[in-house]
Formats: sequence, C-alpha cells, structure tokens
Amino acid sequence: RCCGSSKGIGEKERTLGIIKPDGFSGNYTDRIKQMVVEYGFNINREMVIQLDEELAAKFYAEHSSKSFFSSLIKYMTSGPVLVMILEKENAVAHWRDLIGPTDAGKAKLTHPQSIRAMCGVDLEKNCLHGSDSHQSAEREIAFFFKETPSDEAVEKHDEL
Ligand code: UDP
Repeated sequence: RCCGSSKGIGEKERTLGIIKPDGFSGNYTDRIKQMVVEYGFNINREMVIQLDEELAAKFYAEHSSKSFFSSLIKYMTSGPVLVMILEKENAVAHWRDLIGPTDAGKAKLTHPQSIRAMCGVDLEKNCLHGSDSHQSAEREIAFFFKETPSDEAVEKHDEL
C-alpha cells in the first residue's frame, strides 16, 4: 500500500494541505486546486469541515504556549476549511515550496509565485497549511481521516 512510515526513491508520499478560512471564504479554492494539479499533486481525499475550538487547539497543540495561539485558534475557527490529502513524490517538501513562507506578507516580496503570496495576508492569515515533515503528515492525515487497513477512508468528523 502507498505511503507507509518510510518511503523509498521514486515512491509517492502524502502530505496534508488545508485551505484555511480566509482562502476558502475568499473563493481561492478553484485557483489553488488548479495550481495543486499543475504542480503534479493528486488530491487523494478532501473534506470541508468547520473546526471548533477543541479540534483546532488539538491540531495546533504544539503551539499552545505561544503568544499567537488564541488568535490562531480564533482565525482557524472563523469559517470552514478544506482539508486535502495531497500525493506525489516528495509531497511534503514540494507542498511547502508551492505554498511559500509562513509570513504571507513577506512571501509577496520574496516568493511572488507562491500560493501564500497570492491569497495570504500576513504571518497569521496565510491562507494555507502544509505538514512540515513526513511524520507530521501521517499524524495529521490520521487526525482528519480515518483509514481502514484496506485504505477505505471514512471521515471521523461530520462533513458540512
Ligand atoms: N502563526 C502566527 N504567528 C506566528 C507564527 C505562526 O499566527 O508568529 C500561525 C500561522 O497561521 C501559521 C500557524 O500559526 O501557519 C502555524 O505556525 P507554524 O510555525 O507551524 O507555520 P507553518 O508551518 O504553518 O508555516
């Protein structure tokens, strides 16, 4: 089966992409998906979900002690998000490349071709999420999608 805990040369990898509330409500979804496909990703699964505070806080648990945490949770729960499993060789690194730096304001100057430059605003409202490693990708995919051994995914959360 695809994409276990380790990956070999030429093997496909998965990552988790999220179009955050500003991107989703700002009607950027179609343009983002077009860029995703042009860049060679396969959108394996997708789901629109409205995060509540508990779920958002759990997802961003590693940032819970940071000063920006409560603002981040408010932002992430401000509207529906589109969660996607993206698949291609080197998916984690390539998705981070395509979305650009965390600070979307800076991305406009330094990475004008990136998606965050197109639809993000600043360090917080940066339009997209991308897993930062192979391990986080698999953990984050499991956080949103329940997969049976036969790979038939069933969403754990209610779809909108
Ligand atoms: N964030 C923020 N202020 C900061 C750093 C990050 O509001 O100083 C937000 C931003 O939306 C970012 C998310 O918290 O995407 C997670 O931060 P991380 O450092 O993991 O950045 P990412 O991996 O998303 O680029």
